Amino acid sequence: MAENYYQKDIETMPVEEMKKLQSEKLVKQVKHVYENVAYYRNLMDEKGVKPEDIHGIEDLHKLPFLSKADLRDAYPYGLLGKPLKECVRIHSTSGTTGRRVVAFYTQHDVDLWEDCCARAIVAAGGTDEDVCQVAYGYGLFTGGAGLHGGSHKVGCLTLPMSSGNTDRQIQFMEDLGATILCCTPSYAAYVGESLKEKGYKPEDIPLKAGIFGAEPWTEEMRHQIEETLGIKAYDIYGLTETSGPGVAFECSEQTGMHINEDHFIAEIIDPDTGEVLPEGEKGELVFTALDKEAFPLLRYRTRDICVLSRKKCSCGRTLIKMAKPMGRTDDMLIIRGVNVFPSQIETVLLNEGYQPNYQIIVDRVNNTDTFEVNVEMNPEQFTDKVSEILGMERKLSDAMKIMLGINPKVRLVAPKSIVRSEGKAVRVVDKRKLV
Ligand code: ADP
Ligand code: ZN
Repeated sequence: MAENYYQKDIETMPVEEMKKLQSEKLVKQVKHVYENVAYYRNLMDEKGVKPEDIHGIEDLHKLPFLSKADLRDAYPYGLLGKPLKECVRIHSTSGTTGRRVVAFYTQHDVDLWEDCCARAIVAAGGTDEDVCQVAYGYGLFTGGAGLHGGSHKVGCLTLPMSSGNTDRQIQFMEDLGATILCCTPSYAAYVGESLKEKGYKPEDIPLKAGIFGAEPWTEEMRHQIEETLGIKAYDIYGLTETSGPGVAFECSEQTGMHINEDHFIAEIIDPDTGEVLPEGEKGELVFTALDKEAFPLLRYRTRDICVLSRKKCSCGRTLIKMAKPMGRTDDMLIIRGVNVFPSQIETVLLNEGYQPNYQIIVDRVNNTDTFEVNVEMNPEQFTDKVSEILGMERKLSDAMKIMLGINPKVRLVAPKSIVRSEGKAVRVVDKRKLV
């Protein structure tokens, strides 16, 4: 397949040239932030760094980090880089981790963000011939607005569905011939499940690609969605603090997401010490936004854990790639002293032939952590024979022990008894009152 680009010069720019471009932008951006954002100026002053000390990306490490706590301290206007009069929109985080962040955009910021999303759509094979069904939530959440704008830029016919009302999604998908679906992976899985229930086969719907992100998902889940919907499923990454989805996007190789390096510098740091780690090591992802005017975050700690790679990509893009984030530092559960990520549970479930419909419940009884995983049986597996259910539960629990090092109590529950999500799935219920 011929690889398509939305902004070829940028997407295939030689690495040295890209570094030069980043350096030039960084020097300007640090000056802009120092002069206009008192909150960050104070952080720089505390660290004894002046804009004159930053000559290029080699000096990036001298700048202080920004964290989610800073965003809360500075709420709502403390990190504004432009007068409110020049801002045209806000978005806000979905509050997965309980704290909302409000981000501001100038028209210039919106334009660049939409370009990033357009790059993702084109990399997934999108053109102006396509019908793009945007089933991310519209509103404060960035998913709907981002992909909507990207779809317009590419010239697709855009279906601004927002999330939910699955029957209507399916009806429009069929009647208007949607070829690209954009939503969270958990919602894509749900749409696939609903189509199957209604008796549709993958070839009955014209979808060819999906752009799924905003939450962690596994390779196994990708395969399953690709099969049920008969499409190629591409990952997309972003966060409200950096505009929204489109910071990084997957290409035809489907082995990680290219970071839009002309707009964002990515670093990987040790989350405990803050030390910058070399390429290929796993750690916390940190972004510096080079072009954002209204909400220009420098060295923002995402708390997402992942790995970067400069390995040559078959699509011809030279942009550095990030692996699928394997969770957030605050997503990680510590259960009886063992680190557990929901993504590990999901991998085991899909390997063992279950659907990714599960919920992890952690509690503390008599000073010991309890660890339960509720998993839905597939309709085909459904049985009410207690001995069979116990056997299946034991087998799953053993498979999880191999992956995690500890045994959860697995409870198989009836098909469809775990609430489906239309946006980001709620995988963990932590009842421990540890703080
Ligand atoms: P919240 O922090 O409230 O969820 P956002 O809606 O801005 O706020 O979500 C951003 C976060 O979503 C990221 O920091 C990351 O943890 C997660 N995320 C976004 N895209 C992906 C993806 N493709 N894979 C894994 N996680 C993702
Ligand atoms: Zn590529």
